[in-house]
Amino acid sequence: MTRILILASIFTALLSAQPKTRLEDLHGKTILLFTPHPDDDAFGCAGTLALLAKNGNNIRIVIYTNDDKGSYDPEMTSERLARIRMHEEEDACRILGIPKDHIKWLEYHDGMLEYANTRDLVEEVTGIIRKIRPEVVLSIDPGTEYVRWHKTDHRMAANNTIDAIRAAEWHLYFPNQQLHEGLEPWLVPQEYYYYVTEKEANYWVNIDSVVEKKVDALMAHVSQWEPSIHHYRPDWDPATLEKTKAEYRSHITKKDGHYVEALRTSTGFNQE
Ligand SMILES: [Zn+2]
Repeated sequence: MTRILILASIFTALLSAQPKTRLEDLHGKTILLFTPHPDDDAFGCAGTLALLAKNGNNIRIVIYTNDDKGSYDPEMTSERLARIRMHEEEDACRILGIPKDHIKWLEYHDGMLEYANTRDLVEEVTGIIRKIRPEVVLSIDPGTEYVRWHKTDHRMAANNTIDAIRAAEWHLYFPNQQLHEGLEPWLVPQEYYYYVTEKEANYWVNIDSVVEKKVDALMAHVSQWEPSIHHYRPDWDPATLEKTKAEYRSHITKKDGHYVEALRTSTGFNQE
């Protein structure tokens, strides 16, 4: 194929995956989000979640790991860190308008998702999709080069979620779920992936009206930032908070002068 034909086919594929209704215009729908750690959802799409919550959508969050390793504090333990991270995610979700009983923790250990029993993992997530029956799944893309090489849980979560989306629609995958739990197959109509590379993004959500909610939700993850990541403290001193907010705000993606979240939307098994 010539380069022009290749470009044309990529362009057609990107267009064909576009939804009929824009994500941020959905009302009263069920949205299921998967995140490897409690904070990736905030970095990747907190603004989008705030808009969806404002529109009265039923948002369900599934977190693969308990994030119990990422602290440099020598006094920290994994058990304590997991509890801290759980409360921080609940605070972040409250800011975005998502109740804490809409958060489901799969509780794999941080950094260990790739070593889980992969068959069990895909079956578990297939069951969740069949139970929740979402109109939209939001999930992590394998992401940038740094993430693809460095972030084991991110790779695994990305691949596992799409494997489960595939399995959920075919009744012959995990028929025990139908037999024992009455779970029917479910075809996910539209998918959106965050942490997408710049060249693969094909959908941008304008988050101007909720950008401060995104920043506040991120700041709720206190233990992920300096100084708390080195010497845990549960709160911010006001000056550090304002400085960190300003720094983060300056890094939020902008498009045509607006704050945006870049996503990749797709249908089916990412074949179009
Ligand atoms: Zn992460």
